[in-house]
Amino acid sequence: MPPAIADIAVPVNLFRTFHYRIPAHLDTHLVPGSRVLVPFGSRRVTGTVVGFPGAAERDLKEIIDLAGEAVSPDLLRLAVWMAEYYLHPLGLSIETLLPKGVEEVPRRRRKLLRLLDGDHDLSRLRGPKQEALLHLLLDRQVVPYDDLGDFASSTIKAVVGAGFAVSVEEEIVEQPIGISPASDAPPSLMPEQARAVQAITESIAGGRFETFLLHGVTGSGKTEVYLHAIASLAGRGAIVLVPEIALTPQLVDRFRKRFGDRIAVLHSGLTDRERADEYRRIRDGRVQVAIGARSAVFAPFPSLGLVIVDEEHENSYKQDEGLHYHARDVAVMRAKFSAAVCVLGSATPSLESFFNARAGKYRILSIANRVDHRPLPEVKVVDRRAEQSKADCSSLLVGAMQERVARREQALLLLNRRGFSTVLICGDCGKVLQCPGCSVSLTFHKREGLLKCHYCDFHMPPPEKCPACGGLSLKPLGSGTQRIEEEVAACAPSARISRMDSDSVRGRKAYEELLGRVDRGETDILLGTQMIAKGHDFPSVTLVGVVDADVGLNLPDFRSAEKTFQLITQAAGRAGRGDAAGEVIIQTSNPGHYALVHSRTHDYAGFYDEEIEYRMELGYPPVRRMIKIEVKSGQERLARESASRAADRIRRLLKGKETTLLGPAPSPIAKVRGKYRYQLLLLSPKREVLRMLAVEARSVVEQAYGRKVQVSVDVDPVNLM
Ligand code: ADP
Ligand code: ZN
Repeated sequence: MPPAIADIAVPVNLFRTFHYRIPAHLDTHLVPGSRVLVPFGSRRVTGTVVGFPGAAERDLKEIIDLAGEAVSPDLLRLAVWMAEYYLHPLGLSIETLLPKGVEEVPRRRRKLLRLLDGDHDLSRLRGPKQEALLHLLLDRQVVPYDDLGDFASSTIKAVVGAGFAVSVEEEIVEQPIGISPASDAPPSLMPEQARAVQAITESIAGGRFETFLLHGVTGSGKTEVYLHAIASLAGRGAIVLVPEIALTPQLVDRFRKRFGDRIAVLHSGLTDRERADEYRRIRDGRVQVAIGARSAVFAPFPSLGLVIVDEEHENSYKQDEGLHYHARDVAVMRAKFSAAVCVLGSATPSLESFFNARAGKYRILSIANRVDHRPLPEVKVVDRRAEQSKADCSSLLVGAMQERVARREQALLLLNRRGFSTVLICGDCGKVLQCPGCSVSLTFHKREGLLKCHYCDFHMPPPEKCPACGGLSLKPLGSGTQRIEEEVAACAPSARISRMDSDSVRGRKAYEELLGRVDRGETDILLGTQMIAKGHDFPSVTLVGVVDADVGLNLPDFRSAEKTFQLITQAAGRAGRGDAAGEVIIQTSNPGHYALVHSRTHDYAGFYDEEIEYRMELGYPPVRRMIKIEVKSGQERLARESASRAADRIRRLLKGKETTLLGPAPSPIAKVRGKYRYQLLLLSPKREVLRMLAVEARSVVEQAYGRKVQVSVDVDPVNLM
């Protein structure tokens, strides 16, 4: 007996699934993962079959029809895991892993006339037209109907009727532009690279799930390890995740050169049609490698062999709204459900991943040397407290830049703050100009002559008078990339300077352009925010300057030391990748801070040991697990009250010492876009306990406040601001 009832996950914000009757015409067509159109309230929605309950119920609504292609079993398991782990409705979790628009874009087909094998005896045809068509077919084997305009349909029918040819349909798939054939021969590997590749390929050949942490210093040739591992896949697919596709044109290029048109690049600039075509190429097994940011982890390969997460420590892998998933962790589970191998690569692994590796969950592959045994750059620290001048660049840094310009080498200058200056402050009353909708200071952007909020769209021209005291002495405080640009231009007048931050560079094309100029040696000094520290490989860069290493150190975030260590080590890693040795100059007022001390000596293990001790002392991740609960409301009182109500419920359920509640407290940025925000942080070694507490807290707030307060649950939060 075919199943009578299907259990269906519907894309609504409810933590349950729904039963529907299966109509006769579908009773042998449904499997777990089938996408179906169902009535829901007064609407029709597309849901997903997740099971077939045995007992028949009365008065169930009926499935209307199939809707699009089924979700594969491994992706369905992944969605179920995400829903459970991230405390998110299953129907919405499934939507998260389906690319938007693919179901709506119909497959394009064209009709072809194909020659059949066998005897092609002309005596079976009548007239020169039919013979001409047969000759055309003998010549080309397959001819699109679009090319048959010269032949009447009766002629085509006659040739088909005589058994010479058949009509077939084929799907049209656009190749995204810019595809070139493979043109790059792999180099021979360095011994440490070869050992890493061997371990990974053996594991792939074994067909079992395993996760590797590829810890290789900057410039050690991790990308080459990925390329070799993928080449060993023998038909199975590979997913390559990068933090931001726009920032990694070089990496994408290397994959293109090695794999030609067998790669799919999934980026936000694709049209719906292009994205749909790329996903179908992947689903149909016509692609070997899919490269993309976060959501490429859901690329629907029919047989997945390898999932690579490049720069696995990057925060951009965490989705910050809706389903708050971490693509690195999802990548590990994706590999697990597909019996594939996962490789997490970084020169500065996240504490989480290194902790997991030390605990034996991941296997560590180390590459301690740069390619061709190039030395890691020498790092000098300038103590800003000892500097007399008020300028942003110390005399050591200025001298080093001038030297590079004279020698026709290149320099990168990192300043992790955009705009001309950080804030506008009143010299009379000390008031700092703030965004009216968010509790953050406005940033002065000199070129546009605007004060801008970096958390919402608010902007305004700088006022003449202080809004608090009416005084006339508003002045900029601190420094941003724009002001440094002026200073650098003044001390290196002949240098060609480019600035890279999200104000000066918008869109993928603009990044590629700018990075291309650096690559071709048309830029002497590249100045910018953290974007300039990301994975780039410019052999002529011999100097990296970090203008203010303290920018991120004092944030109210337990990861601030980790983030600073990673940023500085990564920035330093851009120097000395070619034949000439590199030099790094770090300016700081905290030269003794352990994040700086260890990045100076490129000592990841030393940093980890100190950092993990601090995490243990306070019980922060990765030692215990963390869930953030955030409530938001347009009314301060409601946000505050709902947060304490959630806290009360949690405290009542808390037992023992191993679970801790921090808060409730206003979020460090207490108001964004006019919404007041409070947060609670829950810490426990036991995931089950955290989940139970978070679910309770969420439902307490939802029941008491309905739509007046929004509550969100973030499992393994990254953003604590
Ligand atoms: P990482 O990602 O570890 O910082 P890359 O993969 O970018 O390092 O490699 C650094 C540079 O060394 C690149 O220009 C790359 O082409 C080159 N390279 C990598 N492996 C080899 C090798 N085995 N032989 C020669 N050059 C290599
Ligand atoms: Zn704002």
